[in-house]
Amino acid sequence: MTALLVFIFGLFVGSFLNVCIYRIYRKQSIVFPPSRCPDCGKRLGVSELVPVFSWLFQGGRCRGCHERISWRYPVVELATGVTYALLFAYFPGVDFIIQVFFYSILIIVFFIDLEHQIIPNRLVIVLLIYAVAIQVLRPVHSRPEALIGVAVGGGFLLLLAIVSKGGMGGGDVKLMLALGLWFGWQKTLLLMFLAFLGGGLLSIFLLATGIKKRKDGIAFGPFLIVAALITTIWGRDILQWYLGF
Ligand SMILES: [Zn+2]
Repeated sequence: MTALLVFIFGLFVGSFLNVCIYRIYRKQSIVFPPSRCPDCGKRLGVSELVPVFSWLFQGGRCRGCHERISWRYPVVELATGVTYALLFAYFPGVDFIIQVFFYSILIIVFFIDLEHQIIPNRLVIVLLIYAVAIQVLRPVHSRPEALIGVAVGGGFLLLLAIVSKGGMGGGDVKLMLALGLWFGWQKTLLLMFLAFLGGGLLSIFLLATGIKKRKDGIAFGPFLIVAALITTIWGRDILQWYLGF
């Protein structure tokens, strides 16, 4: 029952994250003006702001100008709801709130990177400051473990960025610094393994099916973020299983 409420709360937060995704990329204020249609400027009423359902009932179109509203809107809302419910199931009390804030920012990063293949510096800075603050106030691992995580994660991606001559972006490297600090070196290794596995498999699929050409870039940030969520929730189990061999 509580998980359902957390899911619904996540849907509404997701609705706000949609605003952040649209406006942070365009360097606009996220609090003002209130939500409006990007095509005709129609200010959205209460019935147009219900997560997922408004989009469904309006057939994915604006009520004012009938322009299509991106599928991204309901997807972000659902993804946020599911992420919140998952974190709630695995983290009690304060830790749930700590995780939820972290992943809300990562959801914004995920969808901006997916759409524009860029990770805004402002978001990386917020993540870094937050990761440092949590590492100081409520550390889950030792300071050396966290610092080696930064070096291993950031260092490895930096090396790839240099070798691939920009195939791996600077935004990915900076994001990995924050993730390395957050996860410590052991889970950072797991996270990168999962991200490269997922990224590799999907790239092969996209190239083989002709959906993407070799010269098309594929954003790597989303893979890092999905890998991060898997590591947050099942990381300890996976590492214990692996070390059991
Ligand atoms: Zn409109």
